[in-house]
Amino acid sequence: MKYALVTGGSRGIGRAVCIALAKEGYSVLVNYARNHKAAEETLQLIQEVKGTAELMPFHVNDKSEIDKALDAWEQAHPQEYISVLVNNAGIREDNLMIFMEDDAWNRVLETNLYGFFYITRRVLKNMLVKRNGRIINITSLSGLAGMAGQTNYSASKAGLIGASKSLALEVAPRKVTVNCVAPGFIETDMTQDIDPAEHKDRIPARRFGKPHEVAAAVRFLASDDASYITGQVLSVNGGLHT
Ligand code: NAP
Repeated sequence: MKYALVTGGSRGIGRAVCIALAKEGYSVLVNYARNHKAAEETLQLIQEVKGTAELMPFHVNDKSEIDKALDAWEQAHPQEYISVLVNNAGIREDNLMIFMEDDAWNRVLETNLYGFFYITRRVLKNMLVKRNGRIINITSLSGLAGMAGQTNYSASKAGLIGASKSLALEVAPRKVTVNCVAPGFIETDMTQDIDPAEHKDRIPARRFGKPHEVAAAVRFLASDDASYITGQVLSVNGGLHT
């Protein structure tokens, strides 16, 4: 059995990634923070496509929760390892920087960027030992182009891109690849407060993307076909590059 861990797999893009990887034959570890009901729904959707999965709740910004969850999983699966890690969990707390509180800055950086560091460092060791691994980090158009009101979010997502490029160089000799997927506007809970009508004209494709369209890029980067691609950022944004 091959295993994939998807952070923030209970909803939105993460849920679509869980389903896509389950269809590829991965047993999926569905991480989430607090929304147990949504995570159960993801589990059910995976079962509907004849996939296998288990829930793995922890806060990605809490090192001790991560270690506890992964220690327990490794004890239960002594011969197995996680060969695909999708760092997807993320939050946004927008405000103009002049009004941004320390807490909003810290929460977004700790979830979106520190979470990547804590989990990846923990999961990487086995990938290096086995000489096989795929790490896919969900960044954002906001981390490439910037967006007013998102200095915290853009910093976290741009940081993810820089870290991915450096890590890609460190682990390439061991057949571990590290890539980013950068969505534009995607229809999920995160964008519920954004009116598509206000942005559609800026998007060459004239619509928001769907979670499964992002998941398709993740699925490709996780596949054997992507074995020679590393340190890259694949945008999924309907042509909205700036
Ligand atoms: P979403 O619908 O709001 O879902 C967020 C997911 O992250 C949920 O599963 C949530 O778990 C989980 N999560 C949040 N904080 C967490 C924590 N501390 N620990 C563990 N899990 C946590 O978001 P989405 O739109 O699917 O976004 C997924 C990723 O894509 C994010 O990194 C986001 O920045 C990025 N992205 C999204 C868009 C977009 O337009 N939607 C665009 C660019 C990039 P619970 O259900 O337990 O809360």
